[in-house]
Amino acid sequence: MHTFLSDGALLPSELAQRCMAAGYSAMAITDHADCSNLEALIAAARRVAEDFNSRSDLPISVAPGVELTHVIPGMIAELTDWARSLGARIVVMHGETIVEPVPGGTNRAAIEAGVDVLAHPGLITREEVELARKRGVALEITTRRGHSLTNGHVARLARETGATLVLNSDAHSPGDILTPLLRERTILGAGLDEESLESLAANSRGLFDRLMGEGKS
Ligand SMILES: [Zn+2]
Repeated sequence: MHTFLSDGALLPSELAQRCMAAGYSAMAITDHADCSNLEALIAAARRVAEDFNSRSDLPISVAPGVELTHVIPGMIAELTDWARSLGARIVVMHGETIVEPVPGGTNRAAIEAGVDVLAHPGLITREEVELARKRGVALEITTRRGHSLTNGHVARLARETGATLVLNSDAHSPGDILTPLLRERTILGAGLDEESLESLAANSRGLFDRLMGEGKS
């Protein structure tokens, strides 16, 4: 999810409050990052996450992270390692969506770097999806307009290869926070079956717990 620390509409705290009001138990703050703002974004997201995570009366966990966006593919591995060393719990890669000139080679470089989630990977190849499965990189099904044009392609290759899928809102504003109905319709609309409604939720829970469990700060 994105806040006005990059191109979102809300402060991180308001986004978290609105997610709680919508019934979320977990969320990740992953503002758009390159080398110019990576440190500041992670420091800011960590402070907010600590506030929310330290309060046992709040029903939400917040994962601080970044979405590496339009960076030179040859720098993705280095930036991923840097983000983790600064305390990012989740590193998302802004993949090769068909609606933006994301550099070719971004999907492969992100998978090889071992990011946690490759977002909107566009017309990703079967070979790359197989590599994502081997490396444990989750592929995104998204409710974001434009990026969602290739959901069916991503879902089909993931189903055929066994790669892990997660559903993301890619929220930039309050209206992007998911409702159960939109979540269900997006998954079924991508050509996935009823069982995927539960398996994608389980994938997100598993990923979140694994990332937050590794030395929660
Ligand atoms: Zn993105």
